[in-house]
Amino acid sequence: MIRLSAITPSGQVHLGNYLGALRTWAREGTEDDVYFISDLHAMTSSHNPQRLRSLTREQFAVLIASGIAPESTCVQSDLIRELGALNWVLECTCTYGEAARMIQFKEKSLGRESVRLSLLTYPVLMAADILLQGTAEVPVGEDQLQHVELARALARRFNHAYGDAFIVPTAVVPKVGARIKDLSDPARKMDKSAQNSTGVVFVLDDPDLVRRKVRRAVSSTEGIANLTEILTSCTGKEPEDYTSKFADLKNVVAEAVIEELRPVRDRTLALLADPAELDRIRSAGAERARERAQHRLNAALRLSGL
Ligand code: ADP
Repeated sequence: MIRLSAITPSGQVHLGNYLGALRTWAREGTEDDVYFISDLHAMTSSHNPQRLRSLTREQFAVLIASGIAPESTCVQSDLIRELGALNWVLECTCTYGEAARMIQFKEKSLGRESVRLSLLTYPVLMAADILLQGTAEVPVGEDQLQHVELARALARRFNHAYGDAFIVPTAVVPKVGARIKDLSDPARKMDKSAQNSTGVVFVLDDPDLVRRKVRRAVSSTEGIANLTEILTSCTGKEPEDYTSKFADLKNVVAEAVIEELRPVRDRTLALLADPAELDRIRSAGAERARERAQHRLNAALRLSGL
């Protein structure tokens, strides 16, 4: 049974991504699963090529350093030919109305003068990601449910119109995982595109920077709840009562975060310092994903008359 999840290289990997996603992928994932860096999705709004390339490389290193089976990892653009081909077939299966109905598209394009066409069509590419690999389950947040619904509709419609090529995937909303909030603004989730926020702890931040960021955390009720959640998530234990000792809580949290991230950070830095090894792991993952996709892609092309 294949599960598929991705992280978009729109910024550096942060503590929320690690505790809420990468660590779970490492703990619960199997070699059959697919965990990938969705660099193509990062191009749906204005992007800088050098930055995209280096963030993709860095995020891929963090993925491997998190302990996810290397066999199950890849970078989306390493399959651009296969995905591009299937994307076309699926665009010819999808209607304009379906794409335009996507709530994320409406939200992200709202009030913007210029919107890339790919922002409208990227849910179709996401369907290609899912269907190409024969995915059975897609773990997603509520905000992505509609996109998985679209992938299901396209798989069914294609199978019905031309013949069985695709497994119809199911969306699974994971049971309440850690939702880590921004340390300086706990009304918002920790978000990698909030580049200038001092409330976002990145996996590659050095220990002193982590201490400074945690020390600046706001002391509102939400701020304390967030720190407590981070602590529980890092240590796996219910924390003591720190209500009257906010400074103590911050120190304990900072050290717990540093300890939790230390092995991931160390391994990521080691991988980034060994580009040949990183490239080797990346090509092996891409090769495996490509091999797995080939017969399904060929079937889809043939059945649609190509
Ligand atoms: P971001 O929202 O930071 O750009 P992505 O959308 O690329 O992150 O999501 C990658 C994974 O990280 C997803 O599984 C998402 O649920 C998880 N994730 C993102 N932000 C948080 C957070 N603040 N707390 C917990 N998990 C998060």
